[in-house]
Amino acid sequence: MTVLVFLDPAYEAGRIADASQPQLMATDQGATRGDGIFESLLAVNGIPRKVQAHLDRLATSAQTMDLQLPPADAWERAIKTAIAEHPPVEELVIKLLVTRGVEGAAAPTAWVQASLPPSAGQRQRTDGISVLLLDRGYDSSLAERAPWLLMGAKTLSYAVNMAALRYARKNDADDVIFTSSDGRVLEGPTSTVLMARVRDGVRTLVTPLLESGILPGTSQAVLFKAAASAGWQLGYGPLEPDDLYEADAVWLVSSIRLLAPVKSIDGKEIPVSPELTEELTALLAEGSRE
Ligand code: PLP
Repeated sequence: MTVLVFLDPAYEAGRIADASQPQLMATDQGATRGDGIFESLLAVNGIPRKVQAHLDRLATSAQTMDLQLPPADAWERAIKTAIAEHPPVEELVIKLLVTRGVEGAAAPTAWVQASLPPSAGQRQRTDGISVLLLDRGYDSSLAERAPWLLMGAKTLSYAVNMAALRYARKNDADDVIFTSSDGRVLEGPTSTVLMARVRDGVRTLVTPLLESGILPGTSQAVLFKAAASAGWQLGYGPLEPDDLYEADAVWLVSSIRLLAPVKSIDGKEIPVSPELTEELTALLAEGSRE
């Protein structure tokens, strides 16, 4: 079942809409140009996780592309409505979506969607994933030189990300790690790259440089904070594929799938650590409740 709640100013708690009926104008620029932004967050047993971090990133994405946003309290009410309208489940995906609306619209189109998570994601938390390194075709300093490419924003234009995932599946892999033309590790199509290095009893969590044209992950941010409190050292790239091959464990992490352990990269097996996965998954859950 999918629940839709539109942020219509006339409805205090949001306007509930029928997901089996058309709800958007065919001329909405979200549909015709992919001109909009979104967030995906997880609700566990009816409690949405890291709402403020997602609302903050939504606001940054909106600012990057000159999009007006409904106020944070309207989102919070609509999220509550969407969760309440869905039958109780352990895990629910909550999407916040905003488009530029139809041409000339005074206000954006904004809605919340609640639906079940894909079952493959839950399986991958325990079974792990095989990934391919795929070239994204630009260098790691492009985001700073070309802000019009909206590289740090979570825009609705995910066709390329989805195409990369399909390419991986056609080639017997589960997921992708993008690399830059200057050989840096970037991110997954829907996830942040994370690796653990254990040397002489010192445990370090490392993620690629945030300023390399990747989306700053809310999961990575809360996990880093919780891990630092638990005694982990933290590191921010730059990372190259060899760093991943030499790591003690590598994960793709995101709000919905959480930590998915990487078992192989380009067909080459790498170490996995169920103990570290368990520890970091617990730290992520703990940090996400704040
Ligand atoms: N990078 C990209 C491109 C993503 O689409 C996502 C999530 O969808 C992430 C990273 C992970 O972000 P978060 O941890 O906030 O879910």
